[in-house]
Amino acid sequence: MHFQPDPTLDSFRQEVRQFLRHHLPADLPWRKDGMRSPRADLVRWQRLLDAHGWGAPYWSQEHGGTGWSVAQRLVFDEECAAAGTPSLDGFAHKLVGPVINHFATPEQKAEHLPHIFQGTRLWCQGFSEPGSGSDLASLRTRAERVTGADGDHYVVNGQKIWTSYAHQADWIFLLVRTDPQAKKQAGISFLLADMKSPGITVRPIISIDGCHHLNETFFDNVRVPAANLVGTENEGWKLTKFLLNNEHATTADLPTLRRSLSQLHALAGSARAGGMALAERHEFLLRLARCEAELRAITVMVQRVAAMEQDHSAAAHAMGSILKVRGTELQQRMSEFLVETLGDHGAVAYPDPHARNAGRRALPMEDAARGVATEMFFRRATTIYGGTSEVQRSIIARSLFQF
Ligand SMILES: Cc1cc2nc3c(=O)[nH]c(=O)nc-3n(C[C@H](O)[C@H](O)[C@H](O)COP(=O)(O)OP(=O)(O)OC[C@H]3O[C@@H](n4cnc5c(N)ncnc54)[C@H](O)[C@@H]3O)c2cc1C
Repeated sequence: MHFQPDPTLDSFRQEVRQFLRHHLPADLPWRKDGMRSPRADLVRWQRLLDAHGWGAPYWSQEHGGTGWSVAQRLVFDEECAAAGTPSLDGFAHKLVGPVINHFATPEQKAEHLPHIFQGTRLWCQGFSEPGSGSDLASLRTRAERVTGADGDHYVVNGQKIWTSYAHQADWIFLLVRTDPQAKKQAGISFLLADMKSPGITVRPIISIDGCHHLNETFFDNVRVPAANLVGTENEGWKLTKFLLNNEHATTADLPTLRRSLSQLHALAGSARAGGMALAERHEFLLRLARCEAELRAITVMVQRVAAMEQDHSAAAHAMGSILKVRGTELQQRMSEFLVETLGDHGAVAYPDPHARNAGRRALPMEDAARGVATEMFFRRATTIYGGTSEVQRSIIARSLFQF
């Protein structure tokens, strides 16, 4: 397929850069580790964007968004990453927000959308359960509808797992089984619940990177107003497919790949191994060139996907999954390369502020190494969340060969 890069993208890039130069406060912490920003920074950044009319950079104008093309959104993300802005709440902007825009009632929109624009309500995603991840439709969390003196409610019982940032979230969007007799997908509904509801318990899971992103979320007779059902009861799978398509298509993460590449370039210029500058070592340069070539290929693929915005063919569908697999596998390879290049220094995963030498001036290699191993461990998860690589490969095969 041939595509023409959009000639107006350069001036759009200049516009974003100018905005960032003038509106990104110097005291908003520089984000260089690819992890989610603390809540206060995230809210502050969201408000600044909203004040400029950019509060929903990924949505159409019809839904109050900027109406940017996919290519413009990519430029926006790249420039924000390069400037080190705080992150946005991806669950709100890329997952539940579009579902609310397309399927929610006017009352639900009035209740939730203003909070997304203002950053005042953070979301988490309650889909996966123990034993129901790739095979999501086998989920068992039950919701029974009861009508009583206090109104029409669902009573939710069950457990979710791997709920990222549930410990910081104000609301959760979750899948529940409302008809246990129906065939798998048929009896599932899509609910929105306030995380402060009595009966919700969040228990932390510390991941291999030593950080707390993940949780188990338990529902014990949680009463969720029936008015919080999005779409039709037992037809939540339609919304789930819509949401998962968006989730799969958003994860090539070019800014992270570019950041890893520039870290490698910086090391090539400054580090030595076996008495030689890294920039003179053949093995290092060959490996760096491979990463660079792959990154260029992924960049072109991303541009192709952006140009296929209106294309709903099977091939276009497969492209999102191809990007997810190639992008996340390269993220893992580059973060491993960084750690290996740093040698012993690469093991500085969790700097200990109470260590005997705390406060001494770091050596140049240690500065380069800070957080690199932590990030490498975190990147192990990228080929799992948002649909595992194995499942993506099945989607690619089915889309392209139509079986
Ligand atoms: C860091 C992280 C954050 C996450 N955040 C969230 C979140 O916020 N909310 C949420 O709901 N979930 C979240 N998840 C869960 C994630 O969506 C699931 O882990 C993922 O869907 C895989 O499901 P599973 O863990 O049950 O593994 P399984 O589905 O049990 O898979 C185990 C292995 O079997 C393979 N496999 C399974 N089925 C097939 C098949 N049909 N063909 C070939 N191979 C197969 C898989 O590829 C994998 O290698 C997160 C996961 C991680 C790691």
